[in-house]
Order: sequence, then structure tokens, then C-alpha cells
Amino acid sequence: MPDSLLQRHRAVLPTWISLYYDDPIQIVRGDGRYVFDANGQRYLDFFGGILTTMVGHAIPEVVDAIANQAGRIIHSSTLYLIEPMIELAERLAARSGIPDAKVFFTTSGTEANDAALLLASTYRRSNQVIAIKNSYHGRSFTQISVTGNRNWSPSSYSPLSVSWLQGGSRLRGPLAGLSDEEYVARGKADLEDVLMTTTSGDVAAIIAEPIQGVGGFCLPPDGYFGQLQEILAPHGILYISDEVQTGFGRTGEHFWGYEAQGVQPDMITFAKGVGNGMALAGVIARAEIMDSLGASSISTFGGSPVAASAGVATFDYLMKHDLQQNALLRGAELRRALEEAASHNSSIGEVRGKGLMLGVEFVEGAGKDPAPKLANEALERAKAHGLLIGKGGLFGNVLRIAPPLSVTQEEMVEAIAVFKDVLGGSQS
Ligand code: PMP
Repeated sequence: MPDSLLQRHRAVLPTWISLYYDDPIQIVRGDGRYVFDANGQRYLDFFGGILTTMVGHAIPEVVDAIANQAGRIIHSSTLYLIEPMIELAERLAARSGIPDAKVFFTTSGTEANDAALLLASTYRRSNQVIAIKNSYHGRSFTQISVTGNRNWSPSSYSPLSVSWLQGGSRLRGPLAGLSDEEYVARGKADLEDVLMTTTSGDVAAIIAEPIQGVGGFCLPPDGYFGQLQEILAPHGILYISDEVQTGFGRTGEHFWGYEAQGVQPDMITFAKGVGNGMALAGVIARAEIMDSLGASSISTFGGSPVAASAGVATFDYLMKHDLQQNALLRGAELRRALEEAASHNSSIGEVRGKGLMLGVEFVEGAGKDPAPKLANEALERAKAHGLLIGKGGLFGNVLRIAPPLSVTQEEMVEAIAVFKDVLGGSQS
């Protein structure tokens, strides 16, 4: 990347917009699972702009849908009938698993979660919410208050009254060493405790990611949230599943992450990959909840004709090519390779995740202390080998690997060769 562009970036953009790599790259073009920087260097993209490139770069079906719509009209998403928005809402509602579902489109995941919590608090007449530690739900004033990590919550003021349940890595802290059964028992006991201390039990909702994304791909045992919902449901407490990273078949085994959790969500929020990189997001809710707002609330651009056209084309591409199944198969190949590498590298504390959402947590010492330096070295080495991946977790010590769901077997073989080199490690 030319120095001058980096200097210009630093001069006019906030310091808290983070850049990867000692020598940040300027991506100028994409093709399938590959991206190219300004110097013509090619990289295999295994992070997809933080899981936004869901079906691949420059996929003709998606590009054509965007170009055709842009050539006809670029417009807002309100006041008039917008066919692509209706088409996408129909597809998402039908696939949501929520009976009688309606969809409200926004332009970001943050705004989608804002809408979900606004709906929950209006419907339930309560500002009390339960959230999970180590979560990430967005950067707005409301969302930082349910985001359970000090690195991503720059303000402590909140319009919500939030109670916390445990979450995050199972390598250290209160969840360390618990069997799956003990984990579930602990969560249920904590939840009962929370409900005892909330005002007259009238909590509006719980909001949870099936697999914590920014938090470093941490996940509870399958069925965990379903067991919590059994305690929540008799109180009428709504369940919001934040599927911004886990939706659309990424976990391989299901279309939505919540399905492995045995949950019946009242609302689902989605973003990132839904428009294959276009600014498109939203909330799916039971009609009764969605229609409960007493005043109108619009999003000028949410589900606008161009973004919604990208959404329809992306959804149809996913279905036509059964990319959920591809995520299952390619994810299993990658996981085997990562686990094999981990068995030779004592700095790897855990390989976790599902499908094409896999995390590698680096640790050091008997206490499995976080080792962010090792994670960063791996990130840099992967780049030097032409492979882009992500990083995350409270301490930045987890590699996040999440290629487009269309990744081919050959591309996976290429990536695995790099991981072998990068994660090689030694017994210590
Ligand atoms: N929820 C989750 C699970 C996310 O990972 C993110 C983004 N990292 C958001 C919400 C917020 O989405 P956006 O950045 O589009 O506002």
C-alpha cells in the first residue's frame, strides 16, 4: 500500500478504525474467492470482508442484478412499492422458521439489532434485556450496552437495563473445565438468578449470537439456548437470535445458527452476507411483534431497490448451488486440517466453530493465558503466503477463518497448505 494513502487514512479517519497488518493492504479487485491489491498481488480471501462476501467476489448473477437495478432506478426504500424488497422479504420470511413472519430492512447489523430491541421493549413495555458476556451486537448507543466486552463498549451509559449471562472462551474464567452438562446447568442457574433480581420478572428479551463472531467464534453446547428458552418462555420473554454472522448456511449443518440450539426465536437479525457486501440488513419478527410499533419508523435506504436486488440474487445463488452443504463439506476438511495442526502445536488451545466459521485460539502457559502475539504472527505469515484471515476475541488471540460459502475443494487444499505452514508450531 502506498505510504501516502496510509497517511491520508490516518489523517482523516478515526484512530479506532483498525487496520490489519504491519503493512496494510489496499484491495482493489475481487474474483471468486480471490482478491487483488493495488500492486497486483493476489490473495485467497478467507475472511470475506468479515463474512460479508457470502457467495464470492464479482459473481456475475449478483453483479448483473445490481447493475440492472442501478441502471433502471436507484431510490429509497419507502413510500412506494418496491418489488425486490418484497421478493427478498418473502424468501427470508419463508425460510426464517418464524410462523407468520414479517421483515424490516435496515442498512447495518447494528441498526437491525436496534430495531429488534426497540420492538421488544415496545411490545413488552420493558427496557430490561438479558445479554451474553463476550457478545458483539453493534456500535450504536443501544447496541454497545448489550455488547459484553469492554473493548467494544466505549460508553457505559445505556437506555437499557441489561443483565448478563456467562459466555465466551471455555479455556479460562468461569466456564473453564465445565463439561457440556455442567455448562448448561450453570447457565440455567445463572438465568434463574437473573430473573430473581429483575424487576417483577418483566424482562423484554434475551439477545444472543448462536456463535459469538467478533468474540472469537465462541459457542455454547448445542441445545443450550433452547434450555434457557424453556425458562424464559413462561415469562413471555422474547428470544432474539443475532444471526449476523451465523445465518444463511454458514454453519453447514443448518440455515440459521439458532437451529442447533433448539430455540424458537421471536426475532432474527441478519446483515453482513445477505447482500453479498451491499449495505443490507434487517430483522425478521412475528407479525404481532413487528406490527406493534404505535408510530411509523422508517429506514430511508434499508432494503432499497439496488441492495434488495443484490439480496435476492445472493439468496437464489446460495439455494441454487446448495452452499450450506458446501459449507458443511469444506468446513469439515478445514477443521480436520486445523485440528491436525493443533495436535502438533501446544500454543493452540482450541479449534472451534462450525462449518465455515472456524476459530483457532492461541494460548501460553499452564493457565492457557491468551497469546495475541502468536495470533498476530500467524495472521501476518498467512498474508505473506497469500492468505487473508481474521482475528478476534477479547484479547485478539483467536484466528477467525470464514471464507465465502462458495469456496471450492481446490481452494481449500491451497488454504490448508498455508495453514500447515503457519500453524506448524512445535511441542513444548
Ligand atoms: N451483530 C453481530 C453478531 C456482528 O458480528 C456485527 C458486526 N460485526 C453486528 C451485529 C453489527 O453489524 P454492523 O457492523 O453491520 O452494524
